[in-house]
Amino acid sequence: MTPVNVASSLFFESPQSIFVRVHREIRPRTPVPPVLVEYKQFANADSHVRLEEGAITVRITDLLEGAPAPVTEALAHILLGKLYRNPAARQYEHRYRLYLNRRDIRKQISLVRQTRGRKVHLGAQGSVYNLEEVFEELNGQYFGGMMARPGLGWSHVRSRTRLGHFDPSHHMIMISRIFDDTRAPRLALDYVMFHEMLHLHYPVDHSGTRRCVHTPEFKAHEKLFPYFEEAKALLKKMW
Ligand SMILES: [Zn+2]
Repeated sequence: MTPVNVASSLFFESPQSIFVRVHREIRPRTPVPPVLVEYKQFANADSHVRLEEGAITVRITDLLEGAPAPVTEALAHILLGKLYRNPAARQYEHRYRLYLNRRDIRKQISLVRQTRGRKVHLGAQGSVYNLEEVFEELNGQYFGGMMARPGLGWSHVRSRTRLGHFDPSHHMIMISRIFDDTRAPRLALDYVMFHEMLHLHYPVDHSGTRRCVHTPEFKAHEKLFPYFEEAKALLKKMW
């Protein structure tokens, strides 16, 4: 190897060669298959890896196209770790998350979600409940009617794990469609909506890599919902 090559490899390592190098590191005895790295316009910050017909295809969100090499390296550890079912060391997860949490990157991610994200909800009018009515009733009862109404929608998916969700980039509360059902107690729906309204009330505090979503303040406020325990019990009973 000529000194020029050594020098240039120190200053610039292509994403492809980073993946090849990391592959050698984590599977030293396996010959490295052909690796193709592409940057794609996804609607979020996800990246994917596949092993097909003896070749590895990596599709990375274009948000990371200008990322520093150590971040690409961390991502290579994470994705190849996934591929071989051998999770990456925590330092790589940490490095990667730290980068995604940078203020400028967070801004880009939220912008991309807004402009590329497809509509994944069904609007506020369900077949049983209207989310605008639910929101405004709670707004009047617990927030003095002072909360500006965000976008509201029923989810397409009847999710039992994600009952509700506040999406700050679309400024929208989404409620799982399992509650749009005559068998679903209104109290349970009220409670889930109240919870999401509190997310609007207490904006997310980004500190380091940890997204502190349910602060002690949030939790204390949540308990002021007069049917807190009852609603929790109902939710448990629903499945
Ligand atoms: Zn929450």
